Amino acid sequence: MAIVITDECINCGACEPECPNTAIYEGAVDWKYSEGTSLNGNVTLLNGKIVNADEEQQPVSDEYYFIVPDKCTECKGFHEEPQCAAVCPVDCCVPDDNHVETEEELLAKQQLLHK
Ligand code: SF4
Ligand code: SF4
Repeated sequence: MAIVITDECINCGACEPECPNTAIYEGAVDWKYSEGTSLNGNVTLLNGKIVNADEEQQPVSDEYYFIVPDKCTECKGFHEEPQCAAVCPVDCCVPDDNHVETEEELLAKQQLLHK
């Protein structure tokens, strides 16, 4: 499953540079699928959603750092454990019950993001 940042976040920014998928953004910041990935143009995600990787997307949160579920692989393919959770000083990077995925699905996502 993806990782989610809770409202206990203190906006320290420590997690953002650690993400191998550029899935973490500061609150209220627009983001793109193409940032930190090899995606460009129209892309069909594994969940069937078609997105334009170069288009700016709405922030997931306006108040706290947030994780884009479509870009989070729980660090599979890069690290043994979620790097955001490892560095977060207040332990607010937790499993996202709304985005549950198997290890195979996470690895397939990692390959899609970095093919
Ligand atoms: Fe990024 Fe890994 Fe955290 Fe997901 S678990 S947001 S891939 S650092
Ligand atoms: Fe928020 Fe934790 Fe990231 Fe700091 S490391 S910005 S507290 S989620």
